[in-house]
Amino acid sequence: MKKISIITPIYNEEETIPFLQNRIINTIGKIKNYQFNIVLINDGSKDKSLEMIRNCRKIDKRFEYISLSRNYGKEIAMLAGLDYAKDSDAVIIMDADLQDPPELIEELIREWEKGYDDVYAKRMSREGETWLKKITSKMYYQILEKISKVPIQKDTGDFRLLDKRCVIAICQMREQSRCSKSLFNWIGYHKKEILFERDKRIAGKTKWNYAKLIQLAIDGITSLSTAPLRWISYTSVAFIFISILYAGILGIGSLTGKIISGNSLFFLGILFLSSIQMIFISIIGEYLGRIFQETKHRPSYLIDQINGKKQTNQAKENKDEQEKNHTTDFSNYHYFTN
Ligand code: UDP
Ligand code: MG
Repeated sequence: MKKISIITPIYNEEETIPFLQNRIINTIGKIKNYQFNIVLINDGSKDKSLEMIRNCRKIDKRFEYISLSRNYGKEIAMLAGLDYAKDSDAVIIMDADLQDPPELIEELIREWEKGYDDVYAKRMSREGETWLKKITSKMYYQILEKISKVPIQKDTGDFRLLDKRCVIAICQMREQSRCSKSLFNWIGYHKKEILFERDKRIAGKTKWNYAKLIQLAIDGITSLSTAPLRWISYTSVAFIFISILYAGILGIGSLTGKIISGNSLFFLGILFLSSIQMIFISIIGEYLGRIFQETKHRPSYLIDQINGKKQTNQAKENKDEQEKNHTTDFSNYHYFTN
């Protein structure tokens, strides 16, 4: 029997977990001939989520859980889930708040069985989101599309089924500032889109605020391409031309005897150029910061416990073993149970 793991990142979802549990149990009860397990990743929740997750497991042993040592953010929580579920034949990524309806799982599996590796759900509408979020996300996709070399899936979140080989590929990419959207695109393989209506969050509040979204957007752009760095070169060339032109105009002006009152022009020029410079320096800073993060080679996350058992996160000492395993495991860390 093929094994399918459903992975769900959880951060302060005490209100949604009971709904999630019911809907998942109902849905997978109707799908025969597969072995399911549900991996809940507690991403450092501060409410009663962990307690409720434990309850899920008490009631139904198909529920497994990883509790991270603190809040790492959804991207890293998903990575932890994928690492954990690497041995399954397929992995389904789903939010805890039931905005991704579990009922779609059946269709995801059907497409997977036809031979697709990455079956992703594209939303037809964005119920329950503000117009500001809709407009900004549309603009973001347009920018991403323009600067990236890989095609971008519009209106698509992380809700999808990934074949084992996609999961292994994604687990090999250990960058610290992750943007799953670009990773899903980067791996390629055979993709299939299915459409769905994205529901409102069943309970609780969204964990996103604009600061987090902007961070995610910058991560997305800088992890996808170095195009912004190239803009710097283009613009500086343009500015050299503009200043040559300007010098020419001034020269001709003084030849015809015009007096150039330069003060205000001068200040305007300085202000303009220095603000451009500051933007450019901050773009370079973004990339530099990323290099700094990556060169630390820290593990992406630490696990506090798996299914109630305390974990010690220990670096692999044997380098040969790492190299032997490098096709399936790029992470320098493994976990063992006390
Ligand atoms: N989430 C997480 N860590 C975080 C923030 C969010 O694991 O730091 C989880 C959250 O519990 C949910 C999913 O990511 O399962 C999506 O979060 P949310 O519904 O708040 O995002 P939205 O749907 O508003 O984009
Ligand atoms: Mg949500």
